[in-house]
Amino acid sequence: MEIDVGSTRIFFCPICDVDTPHSIRAAKAEMYGIMCTNCTSGSIVNEVDLRVYQLKWEEELREILDNLVEHSFESDDE
Ligand SMILES: [Zn+2]
Repeated sequence: MEIDVGSTRIFFCPICDVDTPHSIRAAKAEMYGIMCTNCTSGSIVNEVDLRVYQLKWEEELREILDNLVEHSFESDDE
């Protein structure tokens, strides 16, 4: 999975103190320059850190989606 410059990834922002969408501004070797779309503060992160975060979020999203599907089946009875 490529991390493209110009795409957006969820990452922890130390300024906002929460996970926020970051736009990928630059890529060099395994380092990425990212910018928080909330407070526009920039940071440099390792590709591995970005990927770990991506996986973590995909897992959480899958759980949320699974719950939604279960819920919609339940309320489908009427
Ligand atoms: Zn921020």
